[in-house]
Amino acid sequence: MIHEILPVGPLQCNCSVIGDETTREAMVIDPGDDIEDVIALIAKHKLKVKQIVITHAHIDHVGGAMKLRAATGAPILLNQNDYDLLKMLDMQAVWCGMASPGKVEIDQNVKQADTIKAGSLVADVIHTPGHTEGSVCLYFPLEKKLIAGDTLFAGSIGRTDLPGGSFDKIITSLQEKVLALPDETVVVPGHGPLTTIGEERESNPFLR
Ligand SMILES: [Zn+2]
Repeated sequence: MIHEILPVGPLQCNCSVIGDETTREAMVIDPGDDIEDVIALIAKHKLKVKQIVITHAHIDHVGGAMKLRAATGAPILLNQNDYDLLKMLDMQAVWCGMASPGKVEIDQNVKQADTIKAGSLVADVIHTPGHTEGSVCLYFPLEKKLIAGDTLFAGSIGRTDLPGGSFDKIITSLQEKVLALPDETVVVPGHGPLTTIGEERESNPFLR
């Protein structure tokens, strides 16, 4: 598995470029900004992007999706419970002091237990409402790797005070779905350093 993690934009969202070393097929997760840099990474590894996956409809995760779609022709995937939030990108831009990316079109809904493929790579979609209603995590069972969006961070969890947020729901998502994964699972949060499920199970104050 080729996996490059690139912090993008002013909020340094972790954008993942994940590719199959043999077929060169790839998916890009959370292309929030700095699309020129994302495209340079794709070119460096000679990848063909098949899927653009958005973990949730916050501007720092979705802001560059249309530019990347224009460059690659790949469809944009998002859980439909975040479609309303996606209509609020202009307002989100004001909150963050960022330029609005304009309208983002979604090509495909993704939901619990869907699988997303690129070459031989397979990711299971885990619907984890709480940070937003439509938040999803992507789990690669063979590689034991979780792309967590803003649901889980090293030592913390996603904020739930923005529209669509729910503390009760994020705790339920984490306890029932995320912590069901093996301890050795490497977690790539939406921002900040990597961690593991075991580390968070042991020391994350929100998961005690
Ligand atoms: Zn977010």
